[in-house]
Amino acid sequence: MTLPRVRACGWVAAAKAAQRRHQAEGAGGPRCPAPRSQRASLYIHWPYCEKRCGYCNFNKYIPRGVEEAAVRSCLVTEAQTLLLLSGVRRVESVFFGGGTPSLASPHTVAAVLEAVAQAAYLPADAEVTLEANPTSSAGSRLAAFGTVGVNRLSIGLQSLDDAELQLLGRTHSASDALRTLAEARHLFPGRVSVDLMLGLPAQQVGPWLGQLQELLCHCDDHVSLYQLSLERGTALFAQVQQGALPAPDPELAAEMYQKGRVVLREAGFRQYEVSNFARNGALSTHNWNYWQCGQYLGVGPGAHGRFLPQGAGGHTREARIQTLEPDNWMKEVKLFGHGTRKRVPLGELELLEEVLVMGLRTDLGITHQHWQQFEPQLTLWDVFGTSKEVKELLEQGLLLLDHRGLRCSWEGLAVLDSLLLTLLPQLQEAWQQRISTLVPRG
Ligand code: SF4
Repeated sequence: MTLPRVRACGWVAAAKAAQRRHQAEGAGGPRCPAPRSQRASLYIHWPYCEKRCGYCNFNKYIPRGVEEAAVRSCLVTEAQTLLLLSGVRRVESVFFGGGTPSLASPHTVAAVLEAVAQAAYLPADAEVTLEANPTSSAGSRLAAFGTVGVNRLSIGLQSLDDAELQLLGRTHSASDALRTLAEARHLFPGRVSVDLMLGLPAQQVGPWLGQLQELLCHCDDHVSLYQLSLERGTALFAQVQQGALPAPDPELAAEMYQKGRVVLREAGFRQYEVSNFARNGALSTHNWNYWQCGQYLGVGPGAHGRFLPQGAGGHTREARIQTLEPDNWMKEVKLFGHGTRKRVPLGELELLEEVLVMGLRTDLGITHQHWQQFEPQLTLWDVFGTSKEVKELLEQGLLLLDHRGLRCSWEGLAVLDSLLLTLLPQLQEAWQQRISTLVPRG
């Protein structure tokens, strides 16, 4: 295979020129002339890590060695195949996640971007994010990723306390994390995100808030807060089960979250999603597409996608899951061009439930126009406007339903799961009523 580097650098040069143009013009609204069915985001899964973190149940593998050329070739092939099957003409954003994609070589990232740019239109200023772990991300390596087209980094910092990092089984220290963050900000100013975890065993609110305050002295314009979820099969789960560690306290975690979001708000961050905070407009457009129920293609072992297989004559959006285990996935990609293990057609109601659940995660919620794109017959007023239970949520100030659409208040966003217990059955009921009016009477 010829090296795609020269062409990828051509794509990068065009990307930089477009970014300058975009900044000079002032960032406007969405510029997306292609129909929804021809647009998608692309998720690329790099399944390998250096070491298993104690809390992690993601689809990742700790290999003795990686045959990177073979993996690269399969990622390229699968991206090309899925673009063809989907009929997607415009790729809005690309996200390299994992696993630890910062362990992949920049050459692999370049090859995938080049393949995408050849198979579809990849705008020169499309967001291209790479997840990076502090230990696998020396400055020179990060710079090399920038050279091949990555323009945003998401750093798995997780904690600024060395004892907590050890407990989590991370391979980096707090000073590694801060050094990587400084290098990343130097290379990708305004486009660096950091993850901070909360709700660890024995973690207390005050010290955690101290970490968040320290992070604010060093971070860029995007922060994600994630609550530790204790997953069966992980080392941390076993330690808690055996009594070696205390179980995380959900009430303390809720307090950390509440106080953390206030701290971030006071520091000028907009909580644009349940776990995500941005200032200076530095929202993740890739993730925003998930919450808007836009199409996305998932490439790589265990990757998930949701798209209408228009290029293959499909008429219904499908959830697609790629084969989990990397060697099996590669065999399938070599045989069939893709390693899709499961395809589940999404019914109309299922899609609407996703629009509701995902949309309410954001501060904008679901606008009437957005809802109508998925359901032109039944309005948000029809579904939620007459329900007594919904009225109570509106009166409690947890929810808003008005000329803009349906959304959570600041208070409501923190208890979204409990609101959905009311909203989802309401949608199901309204849908059933609508269907029953369509059934011809005998
Ligand atoms: S680096 Fe990320 S994906 Fe890999 S084991 Fe740790 S948490 Fe899991």
